[in-house]
Amino acid sequence: MLNPPTFDALIVGAGPAGSHTALRLARAGHRVGLLDARSFPRAKPCGEFLSPACLPMLQELELLDPLIDAGAAQVRGMHIASPAHQTQGDYSPLGGYASSHGHGLGVRREVLDTLAVEAAGKHPGIRLLLGWRAEQPLRAEDGRVCGLTARDPEGHSAPLRARFLIAADGLHSRIARELGWSRPASTPPRFAIVARFDEVPERQMAGLHVLGRDYFAACPIDGGSYTANLVVDRAQMRGGQHGLRALFQERLQEAPVLARVLGDRKPSEALLACGPLRSRTRRTTGPGAALVGDACGFVDPMTGEGLYYAMRGAALLAPAVDCALRAPTQEARALRRYVRARRLEFGPRYALARLLQRGLRQPGLPDRVVGMLQRSPRVQALLLGLTGDYLPPSALLRPSVWRAAGQPST
Ligand SMILES: Cc1cc2nc3c(=O)[nH]c(=O)nc-3n(C[C@H](O)[C@H](O)[C@H](O)COP(=O)(O)OP(=O)(O)OC[C@H]3O[C@@H](n4cnc5c(N)ncnc54)[C@H](O)[C@@H]3O)c2cc1C
Repeated sequence: MLNPPTFDALIVGAGPAGSHTALRLARAGHRVGLLDARSFPRAKPCGEFLSPACLPMLQELELLDPLIDAGAAQVRGMHIASPAHQTQGDYSPLGGYASSHGHGLGVRREVLDTLAVEAAGKHPGIRLLLGWRAEQPLRAEDGRVCGLTARDPEGHSAPLRARFLIAADGLHSRIARELGWSRPASTPPRFAIVARFDEVPERQMAGLHVLGRDYFAACPIDGGSYTANLVVDRAQMRGGQHGLRALFQERLQEAPVLARVLGDRKPSEALLACGPLRSRTRRTTGPGAALVGDACGFVDPMTGEGLYYAMRGAALLAPAVDCALRAPTQEARALRRYVRARRLEFGPRYALARLLQRGLRQPGLPDRVVGMLQRSPRVQALLLGLTGDYLPPSALLRPSVWRAAGQPST
């Protein structure tokens, strides 16, 4: 059994939120433990679309070039289709706002996550603990979190002590639940089925194909492959690969634009299913601990922004934890700054995502909205900028942005 070391920061979950936080804290000079129940590469159900605003964060951590070398597909814009209408737009600059690279990326999670974990493993300040399952937070007598118990790869439970605990353990975070920070979600339980297809000719555009209240999201990825995920209510879900494939195929008939892109190709791998796609938390920080990424709560992946939230969340949390570790008396204030920054940055985006979800449930509305986007390039450009994450929601208050959105892009 590993002799339990002491960490400045112990991070549960080595997905994008955890590995990015680990790299940022280790760069700031802290001793970091990065723990994950799985070994990498590991499968993770995802649409595999990285919005344009993820690219500078990847670049900052020296993860962008390796992704491009691994063949990540450049995603120039998005195709939006409903049964009666379709439209498409690029991630163009808008009223002084532009994405740094002018495009997003599509890359399989086995590549994206493994590259980040490998970079973490090479950093002398990070101790990787793969195959370790986190169980319960440890608390000091005053209630402060001071590490956790985890099961090592041989199944032995060990206490891992740390000055600060970060839960980046994803959707339905066990650590958030054990801390008593989860709360019941009120949205209907939705489920996703994710499929990959090889040798798909569409190489430039992500796609959102709305079918009434359900939808497909799709994206070209590395290796000439293509990921498409179908999101439906729980009642539609069927068991086993056969049931999942049958449901996917049936619903594909309602998405003629995507059906044309996929032709008669069959999924090249086993389909992945996951859900329910909902979780909420009542708080994201407390003495000695914080949540980041999907552990903070989950918004339906329709607008493909979860990876941005995970990476940007890491960029907001790391300086707060750095400050707390250097000046413990400043911890509460630093964590309040993190909570406020998250609220300012993600609050309006979550609200937009919820609005889109609610709109989907109104019969006929998705068709009317896509029709309106088709007729109004201005609104479409704004939506692409917002969901591409390079246009801050506050930009909608600027008349110059609305004026620019009305002009044809050069
Ligand atoms: C169907 C679907 C499609 C999506 N499509 C997109 C998209 O196209 N673009 C986009 O930006 N976002 C998308 N998302 C959202 C995106 O996948 C997530 O927001 C993102 O993965 C969050 O990263 P994370 O690091 O917080 O969590 P994760 O990536 O889930 O990582 C959490 C890690 O924690 C580990 N873990 C969990 N519990 C424990 C434990 N007890 N002990 C140790 N380790 C543990 C897990 O093994 C995992 O490696 C999609 C999500 C779904 C479900």
